[in-house]
Amino acid sequence: MMSHLDGNAIAGPLSEIFGADMTMASGRCGGCGDVSPLAMAMVYLKPNAYIVRCHVCDTMLIMVVESRASVAIEIEGLDSLVIPR
Ligand SMILES: [Zn+2]
Repeated sequence: MMSHLDGNAIAGPLSEIFGADMTMASGRCGGCGDVSPLAMAMVYLKPNAYIVRCHVCDTMLIMVVESRASVAIEIEGLDSLVIPR
């Protein structure tokens, strides 16, 4: 099994994109309905991407792909993402 980091690993890059403190953000998993802080998610690092998976059911919640020219975000695995002000 691949080793993973906790959700804090993705909070930095996402905070840059959303302009908010994402360590306090929470999401609802589209796979199992679990609502948890982003910090509890499992983050897998790829050479140019972050894969964020649900810590309960392993559904892919968010994928962030970084290139020199852009940052692409897929959040299809999340029913909702709540970002505190
Ligand atoms: Zn889940």
